Amino acid sequence: MDQNRITINGHAYEFTPGQTILEVAQQNLIDIPNLCHLKGTRATGACRVCIVELEESWGRKIVSSCSAPAKNGMIVHTESPKIVAYRKFYIGLMLDSGNHNCDIGARADESWTDFQISAMENDQKEELCPVWGDCELQALAYRYQVKGRVSGRHREAVTLPIEGDNPFIIRDMSRCILCGRCVAACNEVQVNQAIDFGFRGTKEQIIAGTGTTLMNSACVFCGECVQVCPVGALVEKKALGKGRPWEVTKIRTTCPYCGVGCQQLLHVKNDTIVKVTGVEDGAPNQGRLCVKGRFGYDFIYSDKRLKTPLIREKDGFREASWEEALTLVADTFTRIIDESGPDALAGVSCARSINEDSYQMQKLFRAVFKTNNIDHCART
Ligand code: SF4
Ligand code: SF4
Ligand code: SF4
Repeated sequence: MDQNRITINGHAYEFTPGQTILEVAQQNLIDIPNLCHLKGTRATGACRVCIVELEESWGRKIVSSCSAPAKNGMIVHTESPKIVAYRKFYIGLMLDSGNHNCDIGARADESWTDFQISAMENDQKEELCPVWGDCELQALAYRYQVKGRVSGRHREAVTLPIEGDNPFIIRDMSRCILCGRCVAACNEVQVNQAIDFGFRGTKEQIIAGTGTTLMNSACVFCGECVQVCPVGALVEKKALGKGRPWEVTKIRTTCPYCGVGCQQLLHVKNDTIVKVTGVEDGAPNQGRLCVKGRFGYDFIYSDKRLKTPLIREKDGFREASWEEALTLVADTFTRIIDESGPDALAGVSCARSINEDSYQMQKLFRAVFKTNNIDHCART
């Protein structure tokens, strides 16, 4: 294994051939900041924040750790003075590039609370950015005490209209830092190919379809792009005004919609769901959710939800106890099997049942009732 060792910040680590410097660092809990890297997708090196310095025989050179493969004998510095200076410059460029009205750049010397108060005072629209306090760019600007305004605007002043003509996602491209995570998430992770980079030079932006709204594109509103966006360019419409990031408790659960069993985090404030995200690195979905799992949770607050079993009689349904309902079902099944045999029965497992419940139901029909008349409702 001696030929697969690199040194990061003075400590030696083994690596597997093919791993990037960033992957080796993350595996060993070394924090290299980044804004465009998205696990499992092609490295783009777009944000330049993950740069590191390499010691070579002839001197030092700078590379993006997300795309540079680890090589035996490499000596890497992740926070050298030169790297910190460049990193601050790139963070400043991103702050300058759009409508980052949380004012992080101008207020970096103050305490967090003073900064929050001053940000509110300075926000002419009497509203803070919806991801204030949960923004990776803001956090990096604060960590590296970046003032912003490093070289004037490197793109034209961004005055793009906010797009919100759909029920789920608000797109504010004036806050987009063109990291490309959403494009990778849509095209490489979810394979929906609804969005991409469009236009050129200072007018470059993320476009839906050939320059339309999400509503008129191939978007299926899975919300993966929102989950990976590091800033406030993409936010959940239903979460707006429901709770600040530090006010919510995150509760892990299994999606109630189908048998796949995707792992979710419910962001809850005062017993109310603010938003739902997928559990990164959690099987089977590895962070992904579909439109139902991510946005379709309102039914849990419906006053039409059934709270007791219902028995159908001539005049319609009447409420019953579980014992009465289960006894009725068992007696009826027994009578049908006695009169007409087990193949007179058929079962359809609910599409919302979890995998394990559907498995138990087919066992009940095959092993206990002795019939193969069992199916699963495909309509979800
Ligand atoms: S996206 Fe981030 S940096 Fe930009 S205004 Fe919002 S919180 Fe601030
Ligand atoms: S919601 Fe899903 S399909 Fe729509 S743009 Fe985002 S990632 Fe693509
Ligand atoms: S919308 Fe968000 S994820 Fe997409 S490029 Fe802009 S900042 Fe990155």
